[in-house]
Amino acid sequence: MRQAALIFILRCLPLFFTLLGLADCTVITNDTASLVNSSFEYIVIGGGTTALAVANRLAVNHSVLVVERGPDLVNDEAINDPFTTFGTPSPCHFQIQLAPQMGFNGSRMIPMTYGSCLGGSSSINTMIGSRPTYAGMTAVEALGNPGWGWNEFLPFMQKSETFHPPNPTQHAEGANFLAVVHGFDGPVGVSFAQPLVAPTLQDAAKNTTNTVFEGAVALSPDMGDGFSGGHYSSYYHHIHFNKTLQMDRRSSSAWSYLYPQTEQRAGLTVLVGHRINTISTSGPSEAGENITVTGVLVEPTGGGSSSAFNASREVVLSAGALYSPAILQRSGIGNATFLQSLGIEPVLDLPGVGANFQDQILLTNVSFSIAPSANITNITGGGEVLLAVVVAHPTAIDTLGPNGTSAMNAMLRNISAEQALSTGGIVGSKTLTTQAALTADAYEIDHPLIEIFYTPGPTAINVWAQSVLPLSRGTIRINSTDPSVDPIADAQYLTTEVDMVVAVAAARKVSSIAVTPPFSDLLVENALAEAGVPQVGATDEEVSQWVLSTYTPGTHPIGSNSMMPRELGGVVSPELLVYGTTNLRIADASIVPLSVFPHTTLGLYGVAEKAADMILQTATENL
Ligand SMILES: Cc1cc2nc3c(=O)[nH]c(=O)nc-3n(C[C@H](O)[C@H](O)[C@H](O)COP(=O)(O)OP(=O)(O)OC[C@H]3O[C@@H](n4cnc5c(N)ncnc54)[C@H](O)[C@@H]3O)c2cc1C
Repeated sequence: MRQAALIFILRCLPLFFTLLGLADCTVITNDTASLVNSSFEYIVIGGGTTALAVANRLAVNHSVLVVERGPDLVNDEAINDPFTTFGTPSPCHFQIQLAPQMGFNGSRMIPMTYGSCLGGSSSINTMIGSRPTYAGMTAVEALGNPGWGWNEFLPFMQKSETFHPPNPTQHAEGANFLAVVHGFDGPVGVSFAQPLVAPTLQDAAKNTTNTVFEGAVALSPDMGDGFSGGHYSSYYHHIHFNKTLQMDRRSSSAWSYLYPQTEQRAGLTVLVGHRINTISTSGPSEAGENITVTGVLVEPTGGGSSSAFNASREVVLSAGALYSPAILQRSGIGNATFLQSLGIEPVLDLPGVGANFQDQILLTNVSFSIAPSANITNITGGGEVLLAVVVAHPTAIDTLGPNGTSAMNAMLRNISAEQALSTGGIVGSKTLTTQAALTADAYEIDHPLIEIFYTPGPTAINVWAQSVLPLSRGTIRINSTDPSVDPIADAQYLTTEVDMVVAVAAARKVSSIAVTPPFSDLLVENALAEAGVPQVGATDEEVSQWVLSTYTPGTHPIGSNSMMPRELGGVVSPELLVYGTTNLRIADASIVPLSVFPHTTLGLYGVAEKAADMILQTATENL
């Protein structure tokens, strides 16, 4: 039986649930006219991954307006069914064309996909569940963010999740868990795919990983325990598993924090199909500081007349790493000189807005055909197996050899001011040298250098590799005050030497995997040549050429409103308050200053829970 059948729940049944005392329905509307007489304490910009989590928590005791540019796709099977082929188009799928990125012998035009609907990118993503590591959060804290170390951050990730432990079959296939690091009654479902059945592939992937990394990459007790570096495992996903009905459903932010009966909030109004043009401010003071935000200017996404909404307490910006900086810039918050060049009157000179933008790279052009003689069902799970069945997080030593950590140290700790400034998206050389040193510290603990995951397709196996903690930095900059025009997103992929070294090493490991049994036994002969992947003996030049010609975005954009000290180009404080404002917070991927979330979503739910906690704390203090 297909396990992915969808569970449709009527969101709010007032009469019936009044009797049960659960009639407080969230309002979802696309009509601003119905809201003219409403007043709100909080406005949340965006209705995506972090936005809905923050709004849900605030709306328990406060009036909250969420404004989402995209539609409400509650019944869209293409996004709800976790077994829908990844990338199947839906009204939530959008792409932004990046600025020309580095390629081989010239530049490449690369689009980046993102989600725009309730749930945001969590409604269309690959659902791979991973968490930041202890080493990564130590680096974030050391960057000037007290309270953001692993031990303080873990409870917020736990608060967001309901973890479904592996069943005995899954456990036998390498699915482990440590109860102490998980949450069991939060809104987000996290589970190993049900069923987890691709036994031949799983066994082959585990054994070959072991051989290629010379036994150094061990089975993980739990890939979310903060110490995934040097480990492999079966992978968990953001999926809600219904034990009674034996069904899976994508656990998007919308299906976690908005749609379920238990998450209905009388105080919550969600306006869809409308985008924020600007954030309204009062002030500034003469020094351009202590600005208070008063509300937002909203317009229908398809065009039409604007409406203004006020927030009596705070505005929370959660439009994601691509769009949050653009909204700030249109509102006069950003680099003053740059804003003036566009004819925008600066309200607050904050050069870090849109800087420090980063994304991992993926080597996805790697699809090895399965041998005709192989048992396809055991390898692919008969089409019922999710994306990453086995994942490995090799460290610098695992990937580069015994001198791997010292090699990374040498590169990261010796970046000259000149080299640093040649990286596009930083506000000063000290930003990059500081971040590079913290990256080196993280590798010295055990931070993964790369990630490798094995994914079955109908007739082929994808072995994808990803850089985890890149150093190249880019920018998000508007070039028009028209909110319907995308900002210029420039990731500056692979523009630092160290990122190229890591990418080449990752590519070499993928080549080795394809020729190492038992995994290689599952593939056609000459699998590398057929897939166009460099041979094991290829020169560095040949591997670099392949990397530059084929890499794709990691689609984990972060950092464009970084949480770090203002003098380094930071935009928000550890309380997530925009510097120079009294009541504008940011809670989305743009605040993450270093790419320490191997896949971003589960960490971002932690960010949202922590943001809501801090906002509610302020509300209590201001009673
Ligand atoms: C194709 C793809 C695959 C991915 N795979 C994984 C994975 O397997 N595992 C994982 O952990 N992560 C994955 N990610 C990354 C992860 O989904 C994102 O990092 C995360 O969802 C970002 O959350 P966010 O809240 O910052 O932004 P989003 O969830 O993107 O939300 C931003 C919202 O703001 C809205 N918005 C933008 N501008 C405006 C405006 N002007 N007015 C109103 N609303 C606006 C958008 O429509 C959107 O809904 C993937 C992402 C993509 C795109």
